[in-house]
Amino acid sequence: MRRKLVAGNWKMYGSRRFVEDTLEAVKKATEGKAAIDIAICPTLVHLPLAAEIVRGSQIALGAQNVYPTDQGAFTGEVSAPMLAEFNVRYVIVGHSERRQLFGETDEQVAEKFAAVLAAGMTPILCVGESLQQREQGVTRQVVLAQLDAALGRNGTEAFQQSVIAYEPVWAIGTGQTATPEQAQEVHAAIRQHLAERDREAAEHCAILYGGSVNAANAAELFDQPDIDGGLVGGASLKADEFASICESAS
Ligand code: PEP
Repeated sequence: MRRKLVAGNWKMYGSRRFVEDTLEAVKKATEGKAAIDIAICPTLVHLPLAAEIVRGSQIALGAQNVYPTDQGAFTGEVSAPMLAEFNVRYVIVGHSERRQLFGETDEQVAEKFAAVLAAGMTPILCVGESLQQREQGVTRQVVLAQLDAALGRNGTEAFQQSVIAYEPVWAIGTGQTATPEQAQEVHAAIRQHLAERDREAAEHCAILYGGSVNAANAAELFDQPDIDGGLVGGASLKADEFASICESAS
C-alpha cells in the first residue's frame, strides 16, 4: 500500500536561525507520526545543517534541484551523488519555477530524474498546466506529455520508486487551490496512464498535489482516492501550519 507523503519545499527562503528553529519545531510537532512520510527540502546551503537536525527523526531531507552529471566543469551546479552524501532522500525535479524561470525542458527534467534514481534517491517529478492551458481544455494532454518525457527516458518501472507531484502552475504561490475534484481528476488520469503501462508502478507511485495547500484545505484534498499527500510551498515555512498539514495526512 502507498504511504502518504507530505513534503515542504522551502524554495529560496531561510537562514541558519530559521532552519534551526523551524526544523526543531516541526520535529517536535510531528513526533510519532509514523504512519506517513514527511520531508523538508531546504536550500542547498542549508542541507548540511538540516541533516544534523533531522538525524534520527522521521523527517527526511529533500533537495530542490540537481545537475544530471556526477561531476565536471559545471560551475554552480551540484550532482546527485553529492546530495546523497548528505542523506538526501528526495529530489524535486521539474518544478514549474525551474521550468519557467530557468528554461528547463522536459528532456533535461528526464535526465535529472534518471540521475536521482541512479544515486539511490527518490525523484519527485513535478508536472502541471498553466492557467491558459487549463482554459484551453488541454490540462490532461499537457500533464501526460510531461510525464511521458520522464517515462520515455526512464521506463515505467522507475515509477515504482518515484513520486509525482501534480502542481497546476496557476495554483502555486497564488492562494488559489485546485478543488479536490479538479485535483482528483488529474491524479486519476496520471495513475491510469501509469496503470496502462505498469500496474505495479501505478499502485506504488505516490502522486502528491501541490498548489497553495494549507492547514484549512489539506484534509479535503488528501481524502481524495488518488491524492497521496502534498508538496507544500509557502505553508511549509510555518512549523505549526506544516505540522497541521501533516496531521491531515495521518
Ligand atoms: C511549491 O512550491 O511546490 C508549491 C506548491 O508552493 P505553494 O504551496 O506556495 O503554492
